[in-house]
Amino acid sequence: QAKSQGRNTYQFYTEALTRSANLRLSMEARLRRAIERDELLLHYQPQVELATGTPVGVEALVRWRSAEGRIVPPGEFIPIAEDSGLIIPLGYWVLREACSQGRSWLDAGGAAMRLAVNLSAVQWGHKGLFGRIREILDETRFPPEQLEFEITETTLMEGGGPETGVLVALRDLGVRVAIDDFGTGYSSLAALKRFPVDVVKIDRAFVDGLPDDPDDQEITSAIIAMARNLHLELVAEGVETRAQRDFLLQRGCRTGQGFLFARPLPVAECMQWLARALRGKEPLS
Ligand code: C2E
Ligand code: MG
Ligand code: MG
Ligand code: MG
Repeated sequence: QAKSQGRNTYQFYTEALTRSANLRLSMEARLRRAIERDELLLHYQPQVELATGTPVGVEALVRWRSAEGRIVPPGEFIPIAEDSGLIIPLGYWVLREACSQGRSWLDAGGAAMRLAVNLSAVQWGHKGLFGRIREILDETRFPPEQLEFEITETTLMEGGGPETGVLVALRDLGVRVAIDDFGTGYSSLAALKRFPVDVVKIDRAFVDGLPDDPDDQEITSAIIAMARNLHLELVAEGVETRAQRDFLLQRGCRTGQGFLFARPLPVAECMQWLARALRGKEPLS
């Protein structure tokens, strides 16, 4: 009896695995079609001076408008894009779209500000990466000094991370590099020492418990002090409350993004948001 039960369990798992593999396959096929049919779009989340709310930049965040009209968040398809290699065409689409929309903003008289774009490990491992970046910058005429790439700390430290040479070449172009989700990996300090980066983004997980959680207080304060000592810029992620903002400001972090200021917005809404927030303020450089 035990034996037949074992077999049933085995059969159950086999069926479940087959089902999830099929599901994944169809997701991959749909994603491939989505890239071809232009079903992807970018939302932009403003980054602001915490003290004044003045925008200093935006982060581009990819979305997928599925055939059924649902907006699919990146957490549901980026991992599949990475596993299947689709992240390569998808990533170049994101970069080109962001630079060309950024160029439109500038052409319409919008203030110069930073445009942050996420790059995953697989993209950093792509041989043609640097050439394509330069091509896209040329074609869109987007100023390299306003472009920033976000790379997670885990990506930096794992095998598939970037060659230091590529980071240096990007820097020579004037492009900046930020460490995303800082503090969530096992080797944050080593990552800072090994790679030439300009910006540290404090992960939302640590901002979450501010201002009351003693561990989050310690961790964010340490990250801020260290980044300042190394003359790195800081951006806090996931700032949702005034109390969080005040704590960060008091510890010396001047820049952040989060629902307190703005959610990621469709491009037209983001441009309106920026224009309104900048009205009557000095142009940024
Ligand atoms: P990330 O780069 O760390 O982006 C920040 C995420 O936090 C975004 O989620 C954003 O909507 C969310 N967020 C911002 N402020 C708040 C807040 O105040 N509270 C809360 N609870 N959440 C906030 P999103 O857009 O779902 O993106 C998730 C992740 O997907 C990103 O994390 C990034 O790792 C990845 N991703 C997004 N776009 C791209 C892309 O174009 N390429 C690649 N390779 N990855 C991308
Ligand atoms: Mg990011
Ligand atoms: Mg992040
Ligand atoms: Mg994240």
